[in-house]
Amino acid sequence: MSGRHAFITGGGSGIGLAAARALASAGVKLTLVGRSIDKVRAAAEEFDDAQAVACDVTDELSVKSAFNEARDRYGSVDILINNAGQAPSAPFRKTDLAFWNNVLAVNLTGAFLCTHAALPDMTEAKWGRIVNVGSVCSLKGYAYVTAYCASKHGLLGLTRALAHETAKSGVTVNCVCPGYVDTPIITESVDRITAKTALNEAEAHASLIQFNPMGRIITAEEVAAAIAYLCSDLAAATNGAALPITGGEI
Ligand code: NDP
Repeated sequence: MSGRHAFITGGGSGIGLAAARALASAGVKLTLVGRSIDKVRAAAEEFDDAQAVACDVTDELSVKSAFNEARDRYGSVDILINNAGQAPSAPFRKTDLAFWNNVLAVNLTGAFLCTHAALPDMTEAKWGRIVNVGSVCSLKGYAYVTAYCASKHGLLGLTRALAHETAKSGVTVNCVCPGYVDTPIITESVDRITAKTALNEAEAHASLIQFNPMGRIITAEEVAAAIAYLCSDLAAATNGAALPITGGEI
């Protein structure tokens, strides 16, 4: 992978930053994007070959301009990690249209827009890797996350369908499907649970990992290792896959 150029959405924290570290250690040049330029700048400082670009993945113009900036410095994009995401929860009766649209816009339309922007580079180069960061919620339903589950099921559908279209072009499209991972999103979920229920922090944490047969939270590095594998040359025959990283849940 050395010398390749990866565009990582949500690259300033959590799974995106762990993926950046895994790819950088394989010699990949990085464009890290997120809405907070300070966050992606701070992350980019860790690496020799990385740049930070502000981008809201829900905004087509912002995505186009981020890809232009990415190419100006490191050339065409070889690897796209569609990782930016938000995971708000609410009972279905409180999931109004604005809530629904926001979750779908970030988690699903954001990946669509970035894929549109990246794919021409990859098909021209006859080599490309797109890894979508889905979730165990791409594969299963859970209470209080209808919008999130719908967005992550949609992301897996996008993965599977596009993998068929790109199969002969040297471009693979895959989806990693983690269970609960130790990142800022989980801190927010624990805060939400303690605010809305009688559970304390430890109990809220335990409630999140109750479905994981290993009985522990997944680490961002474990997800990043799977992402790095899917970006490698040796993963060329792995296409349209949904890879659960769930400690055995499913
Ligand atoms: P983080 O909160 O650390 O990462 C989410 C990232 O997405 C942030 O860096 C954030 O940066 C970015 N982001 C959010 N909205 C936008 C937007 N509109 N445009 C651009 N960037 C955006 O949490 P995780 O690392 O956990 O999340 C990464 C992915 O992993 C998400 O897709 C999530 O659904 C998925 N996932 C997480 C699991 C977990 O348990 N943690 C489990 C399964 C899947 P900024 O705010 O600066 O824009």
